Amino acid sequence: MLRLWRKIRAIGRVAEPAPDAPAAVPAAAEFSGSVQIRHVDAGSCNGCEIEIGAAFGPVYDLERYGARLVASPRHADALLVTGPVTRNMAEPLRRTYEAVPEPRVVVAVGDCARNCGVFAEAYGVAGPVREIVPVDVEVAGCPPRPEAIVDAVRSVTGR
Ligand code: SF4
Repeated sequence: MLRLWRKIRAIGRVAEPAPDAPAAVPAAAEFSGSVQIRHVDAGSCNGCEIEIGAAFGPVYDLERYGARLVASPRHADALLVTGPVTRNMAEPLRRTYEAVPEPRVVVAVGDCARNCGVFAEAYGVAGPVREIVPVDVEVAGCPPRPEAIVDAVRSVTGR
């Protein structure tokens, strides 16, 4: 145990240095720097999820900016939505959005969430996220880089 503690002390902090804070969305003032986030996969290929996992991992350490993933939309302030919205996920996404207490923010992550990306006009796709629920922040890329996801979430936490 002591060896482990010494190792942690010797290595120190491994996260990337924090870049300047991006411009905050209007709702950020209401969250006071602490935002609970519910992730919704509305039809993603899972590539965006891997980058979200990296954004919350030890290198980018998104939690240090006041963001935390939660299991229920009723506990959330914001939704992080990935993928084109499939026909089967359109109604669950609407209901999930309604379950988030106001004020609430929606972040559409990835080109599929923004404009259906490579799945545009596929038979099972209902549309981009903004056609199903209101979107406040969009993150471009297929998949987006973790830095871009961190930036988008920081614009919601305001930190
Ligand atoms: S944007 Fe790219 S990585 Fe993300 S769900 Fe679509 S195809 Fe997959």
